[in-house]
Amino acid sequence: MKTKRTKKDMSRVCEECGSRCCRYVAVEIDRPTCKRDYDHIRWYLLHGNIHVFVDHENDWFLEMESDCVALGPDGQCLNYENRPRICRQYGDDHQTCEYLAEEEPFIERFSNAADYETWLDKKKIQWRWKK
Ligand code: SF4
Ligand code: SF4
Repeated sequence: MKTKRTKKDMSRVCEECGSRCCRYVAVEIDRPTCKRDYDHIRWYLLHGNIHVFVDHENDWFLEMESDCVALGPDGQCLNYENRPRICRQYGDDHQTCEYLAEEEPFIERFSNAADYETWLDKKKIQWRWKK
């Protein structure tokens, strides 16, 4: 059985992990169902430091790589007492911490438009507009 880690344990693990959950923002997006949606996701993925992932519930997310401005040089939170609620709730257990989780938090993750297009083609999804 997994044991809950103490705050001290977690701070050691977070240091080892490199504060990865403080280095991006992920926003849920509509699951794509039409050419317009497929095209929007291609557009997102044509930009640098952007990823799109699908979680285990089949929900879709836009992930923007960007370090939090409150992240200190040694990986500590410089806004700890006033950090957002989402930060407070993250990583308290094995379920929500992506570093400690036994499986990746996604079933699909795209980092560029080409990989996404290949995936659409494999699924036989008609995403191309007629010329
Ligand atoms: S992903 Fe987990 S281990 Fe890494 S910084 Fe966040 S809470 Fe800590
Ligand atoms: S506020 Fe603190 S805990 Fe939250 S993302 Fe920024 S550095 Fe990390």
